[in-house]
Amino acid sequence: MNRLQNELKRIDHRGYPAYKDLKGSYDFVKYTLNIEHVQGDPFASPSSLSVSINGKTAGFPKNYYDEYHRRIALEDFILRRFSMAVSKISFKAKGSGKSGMVSASQPGQEIMERSACHVDENTGEVLFRFVVGFPARGRSIDAGELEKILFRLLPDAVEKSGIFKLFKEQEKSKLREQIELADDQKELRRVIQEKGFTAFIADGSVLPRESGVSQKPMKNAVLFKSPESMQVSFDLPHKGKITGMGIKKGVTLIVGGGYHGKSTLLQTLEKAVYPHIAGDGREYIVTDATGVKLRAEDGRSVADEDISLFIRNLPNGKDTTRFSTLDASGSTSQAANTVEALEAGSRLFLIDEDTSATNFMIRDELMERVISADEEPIVPFIKRVEQLYEQKGVSTILVAGSCGAFFHVADTVIQMDRYIPKEITKAAKQVAAEYPLKMKDDDTKIELDEGRKVRLPKADDRTKIKVMGTDGFLYNKTNVDLRYLEQITDAEQMLAISKALEYLIRKYGGKETMIRTLIDDVEGLIDTKGVSALTSRGSVPNMSKPRRFEIAGCINRFVK
Ligand code: ADP
Ligand code: MG
Repeated sequence: MNRLQNELKRIDHRGYPAYKDLKGSYDFVKYTLNIEHVQGDPFASPSSLSVSINGKTAGFPKNYYDEYHRRIALEDFILRRFSMAVSKISFKAKGSGKSGMVSASQPGQEIMERSACHVDENTGEVLFRFVVGFPARGRSIDAGELEKILFRLLPDAVEKSGIFKLFKEQEKSKLREQIELADDQKELRRVIQEKGFTAFIADGSVLPRESGVSQKPMKNAVLFKSPESMQVSFDLPHKGKITGMGIKKGVTLIVGGGYHGKSTLLQTLEKAVYPHIAGDGREYIVTDATGVKLRAEDGRSVADEDISLFIRNLPNGKDTTRFSTLDASGSTSQAANTVEALEAGSRLFLIDEDTSATNFMIRDELMERVISADEEPIVPFIKRVEQLYEQKGVSTILVAGSCGAFFHVADTVIQMDRYIPKEITKAAKQVAAEYPLKMKDDDTKIELDEGRKVRLPKADDRTKIKVMGTDGFLYNKTNVDLRYLEQITDAEQMLAISKALEYLIRKYGGKETMIRTLIDDVEGLIDTKGVSALTSRGSVPNMSKPRRFEIAGCINRFVK
């Protein structure tokens, strides 16, 4: 502390670059302050700092962090507190440019591993990462203002969020509730899997969101209520008995009139691959964590992929067992998305007709009579959906409000009626029997090219990455468009995906490598060393843990 104070006195009023001398670690008695990267000028990205509090001082109960799911819940809780506390001290110190800005990660509705906070599973040591705009007057150092931040404002924020014994009783019980919720969510995930369900939605859940830009729950929404026939109950360790709608593995069809809540239900399931915080309304909704939303994506590129499961005999004679294009059509893009999800190990497909290519999904009898199946390059998804489950164990949950043909292949049919689901499987099957599906059978065995290889480009000396929210990122000069990977949670996850790509390019660039090897490698790295391991040098930026499916999606759109 004294050393830092002396340094600050020494460099006061000097040119801004002298701030670089502050890089290093300082003992603040209750914690260590690390100045990891210092910005070049007052207008540049703010400086990166971290604080670490040793396990003894932090003092969180050991059973809050010795298991992964609990540790993530603890990290999430204290990070939210820390972030709130530093936002209150932001710009209390003044100056030019970003002077006085203090900011940490601001998690959304999901609870997920984030590089901005880490609790050591063995020692209980707490680490927070954050940024500070080092204050300047014009372009010279204003050390007094930085002293104000580091010595007067920050200690309180750090101690309030990272030292358990300073928590008020009420906060301690909130934390305990968050840990217990994490236990319950983990158990719910385990038990639905065990009982043969692919998703579960608890009665009383709030599905719709406040707006297109806010993931907060809609106020006065119609609460979810399971149809009796699909109602199941489980015993959770803390909450006790929970009741709701269990969606069995297999093929599930969601139908209903326009505006009755079909897409909202599907979007809820897309998001429920991650756990949600208390108060979100989706705390007790879980979807198979390998669930992937599949949609059409006109214009995406595809490199050397076997999409012959769905597309064959193209008029231009292109080989669809090694299909490449820089500008895929609706149907070929959705075929590629499907094959890639299968390849990455998904066990649940989530599809909405609103965002699908009709000719990829279905071809009706009349059309099949006029245009014989031999002339049509597309084997529609409806012919594959049962095979996918029977042969590969991949379930599908499908919204189709306009096409009755899916009644024939569905194991379960749910009708959304004024936001309330009804199970209509029997009735739908009866009516469907009167309209037999005269589709030419196709009994191809589903075979995946398990060893498919891709070639990432050679690594550049320097990589510059610029994230554009959840739309994608610039990788040097290449625009990587990931806006249709709709399950990417936030810009932090996007940054992690771009860093995963950089890591893979450095390791495998220029060599043909199996796509499996790539995703297993980077997933293994994150699982063993944490998401912050995606940065190899320099300070660690804010990242949240990505899934293998979105990493694979990124690679598949990046390789040409
Ligand atoms: P569909 O896909 O059947 O046409 P949507 O899911 O798009 O319908 O829902 C239509 C509208 O109803 C949306 O604006 C959505 O926010 C709203 N909505 C959905 N579910 C509920 C609910 N449970 N309570 C209140 N409003 C809802
Ligand atoms: Mg819809």
